[in-house]
Amino acid sequence: MVSIAARFAEVRGQLREAEIAAGRPPGSVQLLAVSKTKPAADLAAAYRLGQRHFGENYLQEALQKQQQLAAFDISWHFIGPIQSNKTRPIAAHFAWVHSVDRFKIAERLNEQRPDYLPPLNICLQVNISGEMTKSGVGLAELPALVEQVAQLPRLRLRGVMAIPEPATEFETQRLPYRRLYQAAMALNRPQMDTFSFGMSGDLLAAVTEGATLVRIGTALFGARPSQ
Ligand SMILES: *Cc1c(COP(=O)(O)O)cnc(C)c1O
Repeated sequence: MVSIAARFAEVRGQLREAEIAAGRPPGSVQLLAVSKTKPAADLAAAYRLGQRHFGENYLQEALQKQQQLAAFDISWHFIGPIQSNKTRPIAAHFAWVHSVDRFKIAERLNEQRPDYLPPLNICLQVNISGEMTKSGVGLAELPALVEQVAQLPRLRLRGVMAIPEPATEFETQRLPYRRLYQAAMALNRPQMDTFSFGMSGDLLAAVTEGATLVRIGTALFGARPSQ
């Protein structure tokens, strides 16, 4: 069995190589460790290796790990689909939400973000591969949603997130990221500085096309049980 330490070393190495290949400064792409389905002990092991940002998809599971790891200085990112009846705990227990794809959810997170916390960092999830996934705002609707979400004072609109249709060819992997990067840059909002692009299977393509944050699960923690 490969240790978590060995996997982290491998992924960090791949990320450095991808940054260099893309002409990006070393360390400019943040590694988000996606720990869904993994026990708190695995997150603790990653934390001891210096990892501070963790991504979770399932609210109840995430809240449980947050309690178990309350003594750790972790930045929690919610990256899963959001039902509107779950926005209150998400607004209270996460630093980032990557999966906002409609105004109603943004509005609720804004209202429910506790006053004692800084504004919630938000990425808008964009559906860049058409029909495949149901989640995500369409590219054509993105500018209007950005306008609306940018008005909400308890949210900080930081950028865009995408989960393209899986592809094995590098050139196929790059295209949707390139399209979204260009569309987001055309909005001309410097505060939107986050491109949450890339998972275990397409890290290099994502970094090549401007990712500032990659969400890596399998390559860091091993395969998940199929769900
Ligand atoms: C599970 C998940 C990931 C990580 O995927 P891997 O292929 O295991 O790296 C990244 N982003 C989102 C939104 C996910 O749900």
